Amino acid sequence: MRTPVGDTVSAGNPTTEQKLAACKLAGHFITNSACWQCGGEGLTDHDCGEDTCCCLNPEPNIRCDICEGKGGYDICLTCNPEADVYD
Ligand SMILES: [Zn+2]
Ligand SMILES: [Zn+2]
Ligand SMILES: [Zn+2]
Repeated sequence: MRTPVGDTVSAGNPTTEQKLAACKLAGHFITNSACWQCGGEGLTDHDCGEDTCCCLNPEPNIRCDICEGKGGYDICLTCNPEADVYD
């Protein structure tokens, strides 16, 4: 049995952090983009557990699943030249 060479899928997909670490090593241009979904807030929605929300000031309290509540993420512009980067 020969093991296939260059089969990256079976080795597990690298995480975004692993990819970025490789990009940094390669000297790629990394920038921090504000999250397109939450606009940098890290929160996207309000959910107080009530079916009918009657909060006077419903503040978002649902963590953004795009940036995991960080409000932004690092992106490699060398690998993603088409990327929309929000400031
Ligand atoms: Zn890169
Ligand atoms: Zn509410
Ligand atoms: Zn976000």
